[in-house]
Amino acid sequence: MKTVLITGAAGFLGSHLCDHFLSEGYKVYGMDNLITGDLQNIEHLFTNEHFTFYHHDVSTYVYIPGKLDYILHFASPASPIDYLKIPIQTLKVGSLGIHNLLGLARVKSARILIASTSEIYGDPLVHPQTEEYWGNVNPVGPRGVYDEAKRFQEAMTMAYHNIHDLDTRIVRIFNTYGPRMRLNDGRVLPAFIGQAIRGEDLTVFGNGSQTRSFCYVDDLVEGIYRLLLSDYHMPMNLGNPDEISILDFAEEIVKLTGTSQKIVFKDLPEGDPEKRRPEISKAKEILGWEPKVKRADGLKITYEYFKTLDHDHLYKNEHKNFEKYFR
Ligand code: UDP
Repeated sequence: MKTVLITGAAGFLGSHLCDHFLSEGYKVYGMDNLITGDLQNIEHLFTNEHFTFYHHDVSTYVYIPGKLDYILHFASPASPIDYLKIPIQTLKVGSLGIHNLLGLARVKSARILIASTSEIYGDPLVHPQTEEYWGNVNPVGPRGVYDEAKRFQEAMTMAYHNIHDLDTRIVRIFNTYGPRMRLNDGRVLPAFIGQAIRGEDLTVFGNGSQTRSFCYVDDLVEGIYRLLLSDYHMPMNLGNPDEISILDFAEEIVKLTGTSQKIVFKDLPEGDPEKRRPEISKAKEILGWEPKVKRADGLKITYEYFKTLDHDHLYKNEHKNFEKYFR
């Protein structure tokens, strides 16, 4: 039986990856320090004999007994609100965390795939973003802690690949959505759907002309799985090129939820990228992958999920474990 360690296992993407690898017949070790992750996302796996959970912070020494074939590093705060509140932890998980995991991959002779992000392109001057573009990042801007941590992570991973011949993969993930996103993490999709469910106005930042391209989680997970099993070690974009302005997106959510609330405009946060759309011809050619789920279908499934959440998830602004990590 192949074994895989997934960090950030209780998070949005990590939990879907745990499900996927278990369904493919792997033994899965899930690791999370639960700063932004939620055990509810993996509660259904605790009775699975092929799943083991470690409550651990990967920024400190990581130990896993026995053999390990694959490591997927998905632990990190990932929304602008989160990494503004816990910037030091964000930097640590992308630097100390990746160092520990690369070391673990070496001793286990495991293949390691790391989650990078479209944020490494910053506020891009090239559109759509190809893997060859180096980005436009302000290291000391509000998003710098996340962007630079992820850029360091890519550099460190390539260094281990080049110096130690480590078997590495790097995925640059563009905006992804689906069930198990945290409703109040500030991301636009849970923000709009949460507002609609609570009967609040939908808050569009700026004039809403900035664009994003949203990928449904099942498509992304399939792409990550294919990348892991491929022999491609350079960074690869995964995302859905179907681009939409945030104002049009808000209108789609109004329609989907049938809310009678208004769309209201708020200040655009500093450093908010103007445009974002992945160029995915590498993924098409090398992995034979492209997204299949249309936004209308993915949004319906996601809305149904959010409607099942309890009062705390709907109304609490912050994750319950957040406070104790404030330093
Ligand atoms: N956004 C918005 N209203 C909200 C939350 C976000 O208009 O209540 C905008 C935000 O300014 C950004 C876009 O939606 O332009 C996507 O934001 P998100 O935080 O989801 O992701 P990112 O900016 O990292 O792509």
